[in-house]
Amino acid sequence: MNYQTIFEGAIDQLKAEKRYRVFADLERIVGRFPHAIWRKDDVAREVVIWCSNDYLGMGQHQSVLGAMIETASGMGAGAGGTRNISGTNHPLVELEAELADLHGKEAGLVFTSGFVSNEAAISTIARLLPDCLILSDELNHASMIEGIRRSGCEKKLWRHNDTAHLEELLQAAEPGRAKLIVFESVYSMDGDVSPIKEICDLAEKYGALTYIDEVHAVGMYGPRGGGIADREGLMDRIDVIEGTLAKAFGTLGGYITATKAICDAVRSYAPGFIFTTALPPAIAAAAAASIRHLKRSSTEREMQQRQAQQVKDVLGEAGLPVMPSSTHIVPIFVGNPDLCKQASDMLLEEHGIYIQPINYPTVPRGTERLRVTPTPFHDDGLVEKLRAALVEVWERLGLPLSGPIEPAAETVDQPVARVAVPRSGG
Ligand SMILES: *Cc1c(COP(=O)(O)O)cnc(C)c1O
Repeated sequence: MNYQTIFEGAIDQLKAEKRYRVFADLERIVGRFPHAIWRKDDVAREVVIWCSNDYLGMGQHQSVLGAMIETASGMGAGAGGTRNISGTNHPLVELEAELADLHGKEAGLVFTSGFVSNEAAISTIARLLPDCLILSDELNHASMIEGIRRSGCEKKLWRHNDTAHLEELLQAAEPGRAKLIVFESVYSMDGDVSPIKEICDLAEKYGALTYIDEVHAVGMYGPRGGGIADREGLMDRIDVIEGTLAKAFGTLGGYITATKAICDAVRSYAPGFIFTTALPPAIAAAAAASIRHLKRSSTEREMQQRQAQQVKDVLGEAGLPVMPSSTHIVPIFVGNPDLCKQASDMLLEEHGIYIQPINYPTVPRGTERLRVTPTPFHDDGLVEKLRAALVEVWERLGLPLSGPIEPAAETVDQPVARVAVPRSGG
């Protein structure tokens, strides 16, 4: 058997579908975010990044860098092993306390990434519940789908953000059966928000456990950055709040917060927690510094919201098809994988603007888009340059400049297309 041709064939198939991914070679510049150096064919050029998930620029914050450098200097580079073998580095103990406090929960448990936290926590929680039924929003992230799969439990999908459909499924289940509802707060490809309160009401009515992914909201919403549930005063009604340290907090790692019993059970039973080396102390300290800063300071959140609105307004007025979003995420509709890639390439090569194309399977086919994520550091001058570049590219590619896409009639939080496909974005 010629093994290599099989792999080459798999790659060729992606290329034929115009969704082969190329990663830009970028070097971010501390003190000058969102500016970065882009290298291609031995040429280095300065570009502006418009699609980073370091949403608040905390990756360059002095208190975060200070904590990281100081801790690495004092405690070394690595964690030295799994927590089973090497115990827990003290900065990780402090980080878990900081997270529990952020979400008003008894305990926190940190993993090496948000992906791992969803995979490990969802699969373990569901597996420990007898004959558990998992109810999952159809647009949940790939890491949640992986956790559901690994649990081996029965699952039912409910139509995206459709609580009437969720109730139908809850009603159809046996009243005494264990149920776990898994959903996100901010869906990162459309920028829409789930009806958390209504979901909690249903969970209460039908005796279900709730698990929310606040990955695209922690640090950015709520008076202390606890996420959308913090903003809406609902954190105490959700059983498990999951988040990442890698997006708005600007570092690396994932976590859950919940009761002591849930965190202890996941700690004790989840292979994805037990059999892998812990987060290095320097990263734990940096993440804790970032969380502490954002608990006290709302400046970054306010500036981010301001610049996101500015981008929506300026691009919308220029006729660009800005998709409806009630958050900091600004998707611009293209609707074709080839044109999406071409637009992205032209922006980078001719305008020094980096926005990677979002194609299937991250979003449904036919809804390909550019996903813009303004930070507090994307000032009005940069917004203006973005507008000019996008309009030029749109005209050259013959894409329509017919203005913002109207939200679906029923609610502003509905995305444009609702097709059940696994998500792998983020
Ligand atoms: C990015 C993402 C994750 C994974 O978080 P990482 O820390 O990057 O592994 C989980 N859930 C959602 C919704 C995401 O977008």
